[in-house]
Amino acid sequence: MPGLLSQKMSKLPKGLKTRFAPSPTGYLHLGHVASAIYVWGLARLAQAEIILRIEDHDQSRSRKLYESSILSDLRWLGFHADHGVSSEAPSAYRQSDHFERYASALSSLTKTYHCHCSRKDIQDRDPDAMKSGELHYDGYCRTLNAGPNVRSQMPDRRVTFDDLILGHQIQVPCEQCGDLLLKDRDGFWTYNFAVCVDDVTDDIGLIIRGQDLLSATGRQIILREKLGGRSEMNYVHHPLIYASQDHKLSKRDHSTSIAQWRESGLSAEDIIGKAAFQVGLIDKEKQVSASEVEALFL
Ligand code: GLU
Repeated sequence: MPGLLSQKMSKLPKGLKTRFAPSPTGYLHLGHVASAIYVWGLARLAQAEIILRIEDHDQSRSRKLYESSILSDLRWLGFHADHGVSSEAPSAYRQSDHFERYASALSSLTKTYHCHCSRKDIQDRDPDAMKSGELHYDGYCRTLNAGPNVRSQMPDRRVTFDDLILGHQIQVPCEQCGDLLLKDRDGFWTYNFAVCVDDVTDDIGLIIRGQDLLSATGRQIILREKLGGRSEMNYVHHPLIYASQDHKLSKRDHSTSIAQWRESGLSAEDIIGKAAFQVGLIDKEKQVSASEVEALFL
């Protein structure tokens, strides 16, 4: 598979833009490093440009401390972006600098409406609302159009796209999530909305992210269409590192942070090698430097 993936990457049009987009809601962990290996490795093979975007749209969970730690760990590991947030140019690609951009994008959209429903309201009305594993909104406020949340109507159709690892995908957002939340009751822009507005504005043509976000892609394709984004998109949803069976490694699990490993004396090459091994890119643990990640896919 890696060889096949590198062939596909080398056939993509040159000069595409991609992004690495961590949320500063915890420290950088091994799952992020696996993602960075995919982003940097594949972007170099495709001769794509890498933007570093700090996704701090949710101001209730984002912390400056995590942001600076993530940026410092990425630099230490050797993952340098072509554009974006660095200690020298702090404001270029941070979502909290884009709130006016999101407001103006929202005002350009049709088929949006205000909604007052909480998660509890939705589940009280429909006990099966979580049947598909995520909360499905039933469109209750479509005609009422009142309340602090803002939603976008999801059309009654399926969406298809090709993933360069997983192949042809078919998704039906109106059945998965229903009308999509764009802004929540606390006034925060949601992940799906902020990421689409930024991907469209930055003209991102190659999206490389974990398979945990696969189900978000169909709804993002619909939003991108509404926002007038480019239609030629390339998607790679990469495998995840699991802390144990059925359990994705996440910041909230207090899995060992890169900062902790760094303090305990591990080198950047040790950590990148560990992530590459755990995500299945090499069959035994060895040192790998950030400048060597491209070769993992050959
Ligand atoms: N900010 C998201 C995360 O940290 C990634 C978003 C994306 O790549 O679309 O999981």
